[in-house]
Amino acid sequence: MALKYFVLTIALLAVVTSISHASDPSPLQDFCVAVNDSVAAVFVNGKFCKDPKDVTADDFFKSGLNEPGNTSNRVGSAVSAVNVNNLPGLNTLGISLARIDYAPYGLNPPHTHPRATEFLVVLEGTLYVGFVLSNPGPNMKNKLFTKILHAGDVFVFPIGLIHFQFNVGKTKAVALAGLSSQNPGVITIANAVFGSDPPIKDDVLAKAFQVDKKVVDYLRSQF
Ligand code: MN
Repeated sequence: MALKYFVLTIALLAVVTSISHASDPSPLQDFCVAVNDSVAAVFVNGKFCKDPKDVTADDFFKSGLNEPGNTSNRVGSAVSAVNVNNLPGLNTLGISLARIDYAPYGLNPPHTHPRATEFLVVLEGTLYVGFVLSNPGPNMKNKLFTKILHAGDVFVFPIGLIHFQFNVGKTKAVALAGLSSQNPGVITIANAVFGSDPPIKDDVLAKAFQVDKKVVDYLRSQF
């Protein structure tokens, strides 16, 4: 009898311990609004799964990443993303890829990926790259880490942190990025803050950036 209770206690402890060690899985989407309607469609990352009988090699294939992106834009860079949206076989696999092209002095502006750490490999050119910490402790608040990268160099941008790459060379640059999500998401800071739709109120931005509302209006007009 005593042994029975002992075993039961151990079993209960094991269950409680496993529950206390469990944590939420990382979200695969920007949001998932709860609904009470049980017949409403359920999407994971906006995708249903294809019947395995109908799956072919082409579901895991994409070509064209040898083609440079068009960098004729105001920042002088182009991101060609390969993720679950254009390579359906990536669904649930937790990775994705991007080719990034930079015109001379082109910039991939400060941005974050809410769901992915990023691995950057420079194939060509010279990039000034960096990321900014959140606020983990005294003297570390918003600390900036930067590096000059050349062909063959690799750099990591930790999940969620603001990062950028700037082509400091007189020639074009090319990099590949590996990301730890099938749908990393991207928040480009300037666009999100000054180009939101609808706009964030002037009062909010003027106070946040400690500038006149005219400056806010000017910055907003750039997006
Ligand atoms: Mn990035």
